[in-house]
Amino acid sequence: MGKRCEVVVLGLGAMGAATVYQLAKAGANVVGIDRHHPPHNLGSSHGDTRITRLSVGEGAQYVPIVRNSHRIWRELEELTGESLFEQSGLLVLTSSPEFDPNDKTDFTQRTIGLAQTYGIEHEVLSAEQIRQRFPQFANVHDTAIGYFEPGGGFVRPERCIDVQLKQAEQNGAILYKGETVTDISSDEKGVTVITNQRTLFADKLVISAGNWIGGLLGEPFDSLLSVYRQKLFWFELEESAGLVGHSPTFILTHGRGDDKINYGFPALTGEGSLKIATAQYHTSSLPQTMDRTVSAAEEQDMYEQQVHGRISGVTSKVVKSAVCAYTVTPDRHFIIDEHPSLQHTLVVSACSGHGFKHSAALGEAFAQWCMRGSTDLDLSSFSLKRFEGKLS
Ligand SMILES: Cc1cc2nc3c(=O)[nH]c(=O)nc-3n(C[C@H](O)[C@H](O)[C@H](O)COP(=O)(O)OP(=O)(O)OC[C@H]3O[C@@H](n4cnc5c(N)ncnc54)[C@H](O)[C@@H]3O)c2cc1C
Repeated sequence: MGKRCEVVVLGLGAMGAATVYQLAKAGANVVGIDRHHPPHNLGSSHGDTRITRLSVGEGAQYVPIVRNSHRIWRELEELTGESLFEQSGLLVLTSSPEFDPNDKTDFTQRTIGLAQTYGIEHEVLSAEQIRQRFPQFANVHDTAIGYFEPGGGFVRPERCIDVQLKQAEQNGAILYKGETVTDISSDEKGVTVITNQRTLFADKLVISAGNWIGGLLGEPFDSLLSVYRQKLFWFELEESAGLVGHSPTFILTHGRGDDKINYGFPALTGEGSLKIATAQYHTSSLPQTMDRTVSAAEEQDMYEQQVHGRISGVTSKVVKSAVCAYTVTPDRHFIIDEHPSLQHTLVVSACSGHGFKHSAALGEAFAQWCMRGSTDLDLSSFSLKRFEGKLS
């Protein structure tokens, strides 16, 4: 006979760690399971830093979620003494010869529009103001436009996961790490979760298995979710750059298309480097066979296509690199919904490359769903219904 609990959380990365923490804090009898030992570097939640911002240019539906996350990061900092969320200031800018100030699809314009609608503190900057305030962008075009959000910045993903898992355990959660879920079934009484080491019975199940969800659950998730290998680069600072303490978190659009957007983080004290990345959505991978090393050719290509002539103060030398994976839906928005056939089961996709900033608040919402069947946040726009007719 296996163990019975109120909730099983499958996958303890960004989403799962937040969920077990909130459930345990609320007094639920919760078990968390992860095939690895989170925080680890084999999923979607590693690489030291993740951007967070209140004006979420991806869509208005995200604004209330990220607001709640910022509150929870601060509560966790207060509780644990750990530094999780740094309001370094966030600069979103478009500097491109093709820039059309009337283009409402431009990411910087969308971000400005959303900040105006939601009353989010910000400044709109001209090319001259960008050059003066942020010397790493000294080369912007004369038509460049900038959005500066003083309250934006970055969170520390590994620390956030670690802190929430420890807090969950302190509040009574049982966590099985290094243990893989191999089968799930359900009936009106609850859910049965089989791992390579045990069988568990639960009233509710939250599946937050990141880029493994398609393989674990099959259709419709397998068809809806694509996994894309992404690379992170830490470029050595020029000695005279003076960027430490003077560089924001940023998102730079320098043309049309996904390969013309890059993002990065402040030069942090003692690190001697600047982390810069871009995203690719053209070549999909499988988590089990993904190449997790970055080649010298990829480092050189990144410098030439994204850094050289655009971001000053760094050399072409990569002092550290990492591979991390996006799990992307067809419209690049999240899937958060009850499983179409498994009863008592909530599925959360790994959130298409922009989920970390929302994870703390989503964990709180998933805990509410488990305990009372509804959430304070409106998550209806993330339902599977929007793909109906497109499902095989
Ligand atoms: C390069 C990169 C940059 C990003 N930048 C940003 C950013 O700047 N801002 C932002 O907000 N978001 C960003 N994101 C997105 C964000 O990091 C992700 O949305 C988020 O971390 C996903 O968390 P998750 O919990 O869904 O997945 P994961 O953290 O990968 O967790 C899934 C967990 O499930 C476990 N698991 C899987 N299968 C099983 C199984 N069968 N049995 C047991 N355990 C299992 C895995 O071991 C893993 O620990 C970025 C992502 C990447 C990859």
